[in-house]
Amino acid sequence: MPKIDFNNTSIAFHHKTNSDLKKAWWLFNSFKYPFIVNVGPKMADFAFSLHLPIKGMVKSTIFSQFCGGENIEECTVAIRNLTQSNIGTILDYSVEGEESETVFDATCNEIIATINKAAGNPAIPFSVFKTTGIGRFALMAKVNSKLELNNLEQAEFSRLKGRFEKICQSAYDKKVRVFIDAEETWIQDTIDKLTYNMMMKFNQETAIVYNTIQCYRKDRVAHLQNAVATLDCKLGFKLVRGAYMEKERERALAKGMPSPIQNTKELTDKEFNAVMTICIQHIDKVSICAGTHNEESSQLLVDLIEQYNLQPNDQRIYFAQLLGMSDHISFNLANAGYNVAKYVPYGPVRAVLPYLSRRAQENSSVKGQVGRELRLISEELTRRGKK
Ligand SMILES: Cc1cc2nc3c(=O)[nH]c(=O)nc-3n(C[C@H](O)[C@H](O)[C@H](O)COP(=O)(O)OP(=O)(O)OC[C@H]3O[C@@H](n4cnc5c(N)ncnc54)[C@H](O)[C@@H]3O)c2cc1C
Repeated sequence: MPKIDFNNTSIAFHHKTNSDLKKAWWLFNSFKYPFIVNVGPKMADFAFSLHLPIKGMVKSTIFSQFCGGENIEECTVAIRNLTQSNIGTILDYSVEGEESETVFDATCNEIIATINKAAGNPAIPFSVFKTTGIGRFALMAKVNSKLELNNLEQAEFSRLKGRFEKICQSAYDKKVRVFIDAEETWIQDTIDKLTYNMMMKFNQETAIVYNTIQCYRKDRVAHLQNAVATLDCKLGFKLVRGAYMEKERERALAKGMPSPIQNTKELTDKEFNAVMTICIQHIDKVSICAGTHNEESSQLLVDLIEQYNLQPNDQRIYFAQLLGMSDHISFNLANAGYNVAKYVPYGPVRAVLPYLSRRAQENSSVKGQVGRELRLISEELTRRGKK
């Protein structure tokens, strides 16, 4: 089996200058301090509200590590840098906040703009969106719990479905694959249902619409097997572990329900590997993208590709990571000929602060994550004689 050397820092960071690397080291090191991670984003938001001139500072530090730009055009440099290493871009409009019909319509149009940008452009192999960007969370929760909607809510839900379909229709028309991100369990049935309807409509010849499977959920192997057995179309799945673990557990506890989340990290890992294996076993029907920063899972997919006599550059199989994280996985896989893409988040600096805050949290709390980034950056600086 081909073994990927994820410790090859020369490949992982060849696109970074010495000063880029030093800046990244400084940034990841700062995530070790809970005060910076917990209070920093709130202070930044407060400073923005006072019109203090901090945009330049945020933009040249944490923003430039994790985001491609403030709009699609500004992402050109990030797209070009990734393409030079055979890594694709997934433009991710990461603005969060106000829940209004005007904002939902504007977000829908922005997602369609990312699809237009990707059309016919091999540098941008996928587009992506979150359903909560185009519709109200509480409404989706109500639909999920099968409560009856009043007339106004029915009209509102029809508008959400209209936006969802408009995005999938443009993805189909432009031949651009679209990921639908997975969210909290108490809205996910609604997202699943909308997504599978779109798959039935647009995935007859090839996988255009992709659902996301969160492997930290106890019920996802059964969910996946059911989708494979019952849906009469091509299927696309982005596989992830899941981003809302604490919130899910707290809610289940507060409601006296069993937690929908696996009891241990080991069980989540096992589920992820099982889901990935099932997908590869059904590769004639299922296309996948492994959205993970986990080295073992990435190596397992490499092994499965070999075991099932598939080609590393088979378009039905992708690896994906987030911009600014786990370059040692992305760049080493791409260098070995595998299909890799990075989420490239973008949006106005202040509007993406919640996204940046989550990246800071994640890099401070995920076991060993900061340590790993810092170790790899340090090794590369030493290799270059710059430490
Ligand atoms: C390209 C991409 C797209 C993504 N899209 C989505 C999305 O649509 N929806 C979404 O929810 N997330 C998404 N994520 C985030 C993802 O779900 C994970 O939170 C993140 O990637 C960390 O998991 P990992 O596999 O990279 O790494 P690892 O470090 O191996 O795993 C960490 C993850 O394991 C799980 N875990 C940790 N501790 C425990 C425990 N005690 N018990 C049970 N499980 C545990 C959690 O899910 C945690 O996030 C995406 C990530 C990437 C890279």
